[in-house]
Amino acid sequence: MKCPYCGESDSKVVDSRPTDEGGSIRRRRECHSCQRRFTTYETVESLPIIVIKKDGGREAFDRNKLLKGLFKACEKRPVSLKQLETLVDEVEQYFQNRLMTEVESRQIGELVIERLRKLDDIAYVRFASVYRHFQDLSSFMAELNKLMSDSEKKEQEK
Ligand SMILES: [Zn+2]
Repeated sequence: MKCPYCGESDSKVVDSRPTDEGGSIRRRRECHSCQRRFTTYETVESLPIIVIKKDGGREAFDRNKLLKGLFKACEKRPVSLKQLETLVDEVEQYFQNRLMTEVESRQIGELVIERLRKLDDIAYVRFASVYRHFQDLSSFMAELNKLMSDSEKKEQEK
């Protein structure tokens, strides 16, 4: 990183902190030659994710659409928007870390379901039903029954 004052390419980082949105890192650097300070920003290069739909059609991954679906599944549940945003970030990150640019919608669904399950049982069932309903109804029903009997057990223990 060249010093904007003298052109020296050697500098040391004196401070780094994430920006408010957390999407980039702000670094204060000090030039080795003239000792003046300047700021650089570091951001992750993100690759667009293409979703392969069931019918083979492709569309760009739309995180807002996913977030909306999740938000609906979490209606009246104790799950915050922040938690859901983190979930979507994690899913997106998962594919980007593996440099996967084309992803089947099913893969996204499974990842989301897996994570949603840890957040909230009801939201998980609601969301899972959207994804699994037509593909595999019986496994969904089995899951639903299991969850219902689990919560009944919890009620009885009280
Ligand atoms: Zn300098």
